[in-house]
Amino acid sequence: MNRDIYSTDHDDFREMVRDFADRHLLREHESIIERRCIPRSVWLEAGKLGLLGLDVPERYGGSAAGDYRFNAVLGEELAHVSAAIASSLGIHFDIVAPYLVELTTEEQKQRWLPRFCTGEMVTAIAMSEPSAGSDLAAIRTSAERTGDGWVINGSKIFITNGYNADLVVVAAKSDREKRAKGITLFAVEEGMTGFERGRKLDKVGQPEADTAELFFEDVHVPNETLSARSTTDSST
Ligand SMILES: Cc1cc2nc3c(=O)[nH]c(=O)nc-3n(C[C@H](O)[C@H](O)[C@H](O)COP(=O)(O)OP(=O)(O)OC[C@H]3O[C@@H](n4cnc5c(N)ncnc54)[C@H](O)[C@@H]3O)c2cc1C
Repeated sequence: MNRDIYSTDHDDFREMVRDFADRHLLREHESIIERRCIPRSVWLEAGKLGLLGLDVPERYGGSAAGDYRFNAVLGEELAHVSAAIASSLGIHFDIVAPYLVELTTEEQKQRWLPRFCTGEMVTAIAMSEPSAGSDLAAIRTSAERTGDGWVINGSKIFITNGYNADLVVVAAKSDREKRAKGITLFAVEEGMTGFERGRKLDKVGQPEADTAELFFEDVHVPNETLSARSTTDSST
């Protein structure tokens, strides 16, 4: 199909992504399938080429391309290798990036975004639960206020990158009475006490990258994380 939405800049970018995919994904494909996860070296290579920071401002290490066609090209070329790989990288550069750019304080941007762009920090987003997929209002993972932050309890399922994410954006019920409007987003980081990863779950028959279960047992999240922004805030 002849498409005319792309310029030569997009074509050049496509060549670069294709070269990256040939050298780092196709070459490692067997090992990626065997491990059922994308090695960190691949994330770091993607970071070096600037593939992870398309939506991140330059001052934090991104390119702030501001042109979704680059995201589309990247997604298309990764999907040529495998839909699972495209989805894993896509969750990071396409889905999580806006949350970390739009909903964070300046201190958080400086702490997270440079490593997000280099691939040193891999991210995931955790909304689905065993009893709540499409119907997010039904999520049971709870967030209770404490003196200096929040405590999260619950579990998530089918989380792309869940097995190796360093930071997970987690949706939790912070106000049961407000139902769908009482959901708040939290940043749960690797190493927080009570944050555990469960089974890897087969990603609809694509062995390159599984989804995972995540468990939160009394995970204490400091006040200044994404919890500062609730879905009930007009600013979000
Ligand atoms: C490969 C893969 C990766 C995933 N990665 C993530 C991730 O990174 N993070 C995350 O949070 N989740 C992730 N998920 C979970 C995914 O988002 C959920 O599977 C999805 O939200 C659907 O939820 P469910 O499976 O519980 O289906 P259900 O919500 O039970 O829906 C079942 C069926 O009913 C239909 N349906 C539901 N409600 C209605 C309605 N009101 N009207 C009409 N039809 C309806 C749905 O369209 C669907 O066909 C992933 C899932 C897969 C398969």
